[in-house]
Amino acid sequence: MMIVMKPTASEEDIQAVIARIESVGARAHPSRGEEVTVIGAIGDREHVQRLGLEAHPGVEKVVPILRPYKLSSAQFSHGQRSVIEVEGRKIGGDHFAMIAGPCTVESRDQTVGTAHTVAEAGATMFRGGAYKPRSSPYSFQGLGTEGLRLLAEAKAETGLPIVTELMDARDVEPILEVADVIQVGARNMQNYPLLAEIGRTGKPVLIKRGLSATLEELLMAAEYVLKEGNPNVMLCERGIRTFETAYRFTLDIMAVPMLKELSHLPVIVDPSHAPGRRDMVLPLSLAAAAAGADGIIVEVHPNPEQAICDGPQQLYADQFADYVEHVERAAAVAGKVLSAPA
Ligand code: PEP
Ligand code: MN
Repeated sequence: MMIVMKPTASEEDIQAVIARIESVGARAHPSRGEEVTVIGAIGDREHVQRLGLEAHPGVEKVVPILRPYKLSSAQFSHGQRSVIEVEGRKIGGDHFAMIAGPCTVESRDQTVGTAHTVAEAGATMFRGGAYKPRSSPYSFQGLGTEGLRLLAEAKAETGLPIVTELMDARDVEPILEVADVIQVGARNMQNYPLLAEIGRTGKPVLIKRGLSATLEELLMAAEYVLKEGNPNVMLCERGIRTFETAYRFTLDIMAVPMLKELSHLPVIVDPSHAPGRRDMVLPLSLAAAAAGADGIIVEVHPNPEQAICDGPQQLYADQFADYVEHVERAAAVAGKVLSAPA
């Protein structure tokens, strides 16, 4: 249920409603908009209904949330878009995030060098995997804690916030020390204990859409994080499996406007993993930005021919500044500006 407060409701009214909701064992998720506060009551619907909150001081109306996902639904935010702030950089609303970096952390030179290059080109955040989800157990699995140390060094030198993947809840502590945004990989989108654990950390999180996941399933994954009281969730379209075999995955551009209709959460697009090849990364990025994406997460490498994984799709670091200029123009068409530190 959703309790919409009157614009004139006082803080006392809001606190009293929260206390009533919690008194029947439900959880209250207040969302304070510019004009009105909305309180999501997540729990037994009948118990909440029996409270008769319509008659409570400061309450405008009580309405059911119609979708199976509640806190991530557009209805819950009353039409307001979520803007997430990471180290002074805003993502969502009018702000476009350029998240760039190598697929995986390989060495100090490769990692810190790429961080400098993307920072100079105006990137918003730096990406790089220390723990890698690989289809084969015989492939390189990432440098682990040594990789995290290199990411910390890249941040210390460039100031760029770090986006890195958490695959296993047992690694949450070392990741929390370095990550500014935790990435949940496509293969873990439905790892519910992992999502709930990330929810409890309160750390911003980027959830990648599963290879065969529907948008509703993606929003339900977001719900697992939001339910734990962590509002800092970004959704990421990265390509899905279809019958088409000409490319690795099909980048679902329609997911961008659709997710923005269904949800208030920022929508990021990964143009690298669907085609699996560099020459398609720019056109897909332009399409995503023009379609209204709130950002891009793209792979960049100083020497992709030597990359340990995903070499053919990684952009050449020395061409990255040019790439950013193009994408920035497409984002401007959708009314967005590249997010920079405040
Ligand atoms: C990645 O970002 O390098 C990655 C492995 O992505 P995905 O989980 O989307 O395959
Ligand atoms: Mn990759």
